[in-house]
Amino acid sequence: MHHSRYEYTQAMMGTTVSLMLFEPNETVVKHVFNTINQLENKLTVNRPVSEVMSINNAAGKHPVRVSHAVYSLIEQAWKVSLMPNSCFNVAIGPLVKLWKIGFSGHQVPNPEQIVEKRSLIDPNDIKLDPKSCSVFLKKADMEIDLGAIAKGYIADVIKLVLQQHNVYQAIINLGGNVLTTGDSPIDAEGYWHIGLKKPFSSIENELVGLIKVKNKSVVTSGIYERYFIENQHVYHHILDSKTGYPLDNELESITIISDTSLEGDIYSTILYGFGTEKTKQLLKNQQNLSAIFLLKDKTIKIVNPDNFAFQLLDQEYQIS
Ligand code: ADP
Ligand code: MG
Repeated sequence: MHHSRYEYTQAMMGTTVSLMLFEPNETVVKHVFNTINQLENKLTVNRPVSEVMSINNAAGKHPVRVSHAVYSLIEQAWKVSLMPNSCFNVAIGPLVKLWKIGFSGHQVPNPEQIVEKRSLIDPNDIKLDPKSCSVFLKKADMEIDLGAIAKGYIADVIKLVLQQHNVYQAIINLGGNVLTTGDSPIDAEGYWHIGLKKPFSSIENELVGLIKVKNKSVVTSGIYERYFIENQHVYHHILDSKTGYPLDNELESITIISDTSLEGDIYSTILYGFGTEKTKQLLKNQQNLSAIFLLKDKTIKIVNPDNFAFQLLDQEYQIS
């Protein structure tokens, strides 16, 4: 089987976005990157102006009406933030800005600062009005942060854009969020081979294994992506609302295999907080979702293995 690949990459959203097609199609490529640009412009909190920033800038003052798409994404993020024991928190913004993990000026804050910011991250202090699509942050200095799910949402929209242009075989990679559409033309059995990165490897793109899927989303969230080290401690970018510090547990990374990238993004954060045992319980009732955990002790735990195939490449790791 011979198939040419056409790969297009662009630096966006603080990462490298890449799109792989199997026929040349400049029109669709233009549409895809324009769409990402437009959505990033609405959702970002890393620039002074966006729809989400207009909500944050009005915190403690007044509700802000936003586009239907932004409202709907915030509403979904808010609902999962209110789920019992969810470590996903759409109101985490003030803590993210305090730590600046992954940005210049990152620091371990002093405990007083953490206490102060923790009073500003309660998702119950967000008021949503579906009739007017408006969002109100009750306390001044509250901040919505969609960093954990923006890429998932955007990846799903890109899949629709591709379909509108009759492109049914492609991979979209938004740095950690990989969305495959259809079957792969370059594998005899139609599987897409997605690399699972080795955490903290000194070799760029060294892999622990290959995840083989068809028409699925593969989202990985790990403590090795954005972090800094101080006094031998790794401070990574998924924060725990309860403590105000990075979530600390046995995990190095979690990968979610799901139908949509938004689900993958939501569950990668929630289940990262749950850890392996609680995840097994929860996913018994959700067979369409799979999780791969890489533990600090180099074991790999897989929950719901039927939605993909896994090929181990690194003998330092063991599937248990
Ligand atoms: P990445 O795209 O780097 O893999 P993730 O999907 O893992 O990002 O989400 C991490 C981002 O989510 C952080 O950079 C921050 O903006 C935000 N965030 C951090 N902690 C939380 C949390 N507990 N709940 C929701 N969002 C969070
Ligand atoms: Mg995520």
